[in-house]
Amino acid sequence: MRKIISGNEALAIGAYRASASFASGYPGTPSSEILEHTKTFEDIKVQWASNEKSAFEQALGASIAGRRSFVTMKHVGLNVAADSLMSASYTGVNAGFVVVVADDPGMHSSQNEQDTRLFAKFAQVPILEPSDAKEAMGFMQYAFALSEEYDTPVIVRSTTRVSHTQEMAYFDMHKLGGYENKLLVKDISKYVLVPKNAIARHKKLLERNAKLQKLSNETPINRIEQGTLNIGIITSGVSYLYAKELLPNANYLKIGLSWPFPIEIAREFVKNLDKVIVIEELEPYIEEQLKAGGIYVEGKKFFPQDGEFNLDIVEEGLAKASFLEKTPKKYFEVPDLPARPPVLCPGCPHRPVFDILHSLRVYVTGDIGCYTLGAAAPLSSIHTTVCMGASISMGYGLAKASLNHKVVSVIGDSTFLHTGLQPLIDAYVNNVAYTVIILDNSITAMTGGQPDATSGFNIKNEPTHKVDLENLVRSIGIERVFKVDQYDYQTTKEIIEQEVNTKELSVIIATRPCVLAPKKIKEIPYLVIADKCIDCKRCLRVGCPAIGYKDNKAYIIEDSCTGCALCAKVCPTNAIVKGDVNE
Ligand code: SF4
Ligand code: SF4
Repeated sequence: MRKIISGNEALAIGAYRASASFASGYPGTPSSEILEHTKTFEDIKVQWASNEKSAFEQALGASIAGRRSFVTMKHVGLNVAADSLMSASYTGVNAGFVVVVADDPGMHSSQNEQDTRLFAKFAQVPILEPSDAKEAMGFMQYAFALSEEYDTPVIVRSTTRVSHTQEMAYFDMHKLGGYENKLLVKDISKYVLVPKNAIARHKKLLERNAKLQKLSNETPINRIEQGTLNIGIITSGVSYLYAKELLPNANYLKIGLSWPFPIEIAREFVKNLDKVIVIEELEPYIEEQLKAGGIYVEGKKFFPQDGEFNLDIVEEGLAKASFLEKTPKKYFEVPDLPARPPVLCPGCPHRPVFDILHSLRVYVTGDIGCYTLGAAAPLSSIHTTVCMGASISMGYGLAKASLNHKVVSVIGDSTFLHTGLQPLIDAYVNNVAYTVIILDNSITAMTGGQPDATSGFNIKNEPTHKVDLENLVRSIGIERVFKVDQYDYQTTKEIIEQEVNTKELSVIIATRPCVLAPKKIKEIPYLVIADKCIDCKRCLRVGCPAIGYKDNKAYIIEDSCTGCALCAKVCPTNAIVKGDVNE
């Protein structure tokens, strides 16, 4: 069939065609849509997990059971699953097992820019780097075959541009024929990594690496493309497409399997060329592999080690390397748009909590999720955001440090279940006195509204069991547990105020559905009675994008206002009211 598909859809189709029958993952941009597409295939059992480590091990278990399986995550998710990856590299697999990791060069939606190729080398598992959607589909199929043949997990590394760019593709929606599920194998020496077995598995791994090294020099996905110019470019992933567009007549070594590195092909490639450069996003991974193999090349001398590439950046690097004349042409002319800093949605139930925390002048440790936006002015109420679950553990550390500051940790429901629960248990057993607020909108909102364990429905929108956060927190033994509705501003304020002034560990569960999920919640919009507005700007401090300001008066953009009433609750003169009273 002929269809416009994204890289993420292509990865799902590739898995289906390869007869995968189990998939798990934790949402994270730019990887989230892979499972959203996978759920459309009846033959694949698919679910979101509480975190990437859990997802990884579920898929590994399915592989050992004899079913081709895969797991999806973003690059920082692999940090969470790293423990499992390092050992799965030793155990190997039964049926094919693929780890799909989407990196985010440029940090469009991430806290760092780590390069998964370094992880592949560290864990000693093969990594495939597709350049576009068509390759993503093919590489996914290849990854399952490799995994089985070489008894190893295989990483397929995407990047934001590969995952999200759409292109026309021709493909067959049927499964590749001939694949039979395998039998469950009980093999203690392989799957029980006590030292004696692990020592033996490490030797097997080294034997496997030697075979994979040979494969890397023979596989057609590491290929030389002859050009007419006497210059060479070694590249991988989306960088290949940028370079090819700018310099179609250069010689290319296009790398699809980047660990183990195809050093013999590289030697062959550079032999008759005057000058060879490396073009790769993020880390100088290829450059270092070449230099370690005795091949002198330049790369990061011309191209940045941070940020996402585009045609302008690659053209500039090629010009610096004297591979082409820098033309004045700009591929990315961005019009002079007004600045649009990221903000919480109009009516977001997190906003009242941040307004209250700001007014209390407490130190707030935040986490990964929409609520990170509480750090931005005018709410300015989050003081740390490091990684998933870190709000509670860092709040613990701050509280233990006995500073002259009241400490509050803020975390979402999905993140709490991801890695927030364990540090809360630590805080309880170690008697740490501070306040944790779980902002419970019962969804993983920032990545597009995927269900989590509090949602009550699964990835296919079918009803399922749900975790009751209040019972869960009480079951730890914590006694000071409160449930509030953030839209009830006064009660929420009173409870937060009371708890930050109490010398005990307490948890406030602030519950209100996300305004965007499962469907946008919109009440009657509010408006400002101009005569009553005294120009105090208190309503502007809640940072709602639906509130504007003109001629010394606040006003509300009716189409954007969800009618949450927060601005009305903070206005000292009751100038903000519901509905059309001014008409
Ligand atoms: S809080 Fe009320 S009085 Fe103050 S600027 Fe806003 S609308 Fe006007
Ligand atoms: S009621 Fe006020 S705070 Fe709520 S969405 Fe409308 S303008 Fe924004």
